[in-house]
Amino acid sequence: MKNNHRLYGGIEGGGTKFVCAIGTGPDNIRAEARIHTTAPEETISQVVDFFKHQEDSLGKLSAIGFACFGPLDPNPASPTYGCILPTPKPGWAGANVVGMLREVFDVPIAFDTDVNGAALGEWRWGKAQGLQNFIYLTIGTGIGGGAFVEGKLLHGLIHPEMGHIAVKHDIDKDSFEGACPFHGDCFEGLASGLAIEKRWGRRSNTLPPGHIAWELEAEYIAQALASYSFVLSPQRIIIGGGVGSVPHLLPKVRKKTRELINGYIHSPVILENIESYIVSPGLGNRSGILGAIALAEQALQ
Ligand code: ZN
Repeated sequence: MKNNHRLYGGIEGGGTKFVCAIGTGPDNIRAEARIHTTAPEETISQVVDFFKHQEDSLGKLSAIGFACFGPLDPNPASPTYGCILPTPKPGWAGANVVGMLREVFDVPIAFDTDVNGAALGEWRWGKAQGLQNFIYLTIGTGIGGGAFVEGKLLHGLIHPEMGHIAVKHDIDKDSFEGACPFHGDCFEGLASGLAIEKRWGRRSNTLPPGHIAWELEAEYIAQALASYSFVLSPQRIIIGGGVGSVPHLLPKVRKKTRELINGYIHSPVILENIESYIVSPGLGNRSGILGAIALAEQALQ
């Protein structure tokens, strides 16, 4: 079958909504739907209904890419492959979401984290084109990161959990105890949208640019980016998500990250051109759903 006859199904599974799309890339999305995230069976059955209905007019899907919130098991050799792993999200722990799709669709299904999916989308069509090593980080209600290492998405033992690394927490400067149910004041516990809301008693999008909250936020993000830079040596770090997309935040983050690295990574990208090292997504808020399409495309290669 030639590429131009292929049709991919993409699913971006989020905690509040699932986005489904059919197409082959940013310039060719043939149908799209948003589904409210409820119980796993109900949500996936609505996804199935959307694809089945669209297949009647558009033709059969060649492959499905499913980029989902986690933690999840993306290892096809594992007995719990395709399942959501223990999560505080009620009803979803142990849900075999890929199995539910398999009952209906007899095509290759690629399953990965939402952030690995978004990373792949940025590699295929966005700001990571041509790169072999980069990170996609989302800072929204929670924080997660996907990594592309030596030309491939990184999974490792299960998959990276970039939101849950430790950061320095100066209690004198920030007395908030942290919002992570597992670690308290990990990076996500201190810097997620939820943490901002709990610390300041208001949502991040109501905090004006001059508010001290943003200095603190930039400080925590910079600490995490410096750590990722030291550990994975990415060529670029792409930052998306509702909080990560606040326009005045990235300049602060770039400055603080460069200060923390303090010349130790001796690359002109960091020393002279950090604007090209820490960037916003090329696909805007479409990295996730287009990444799911890219996962489907990759499932056939
Ligand atoms: Zn944590």
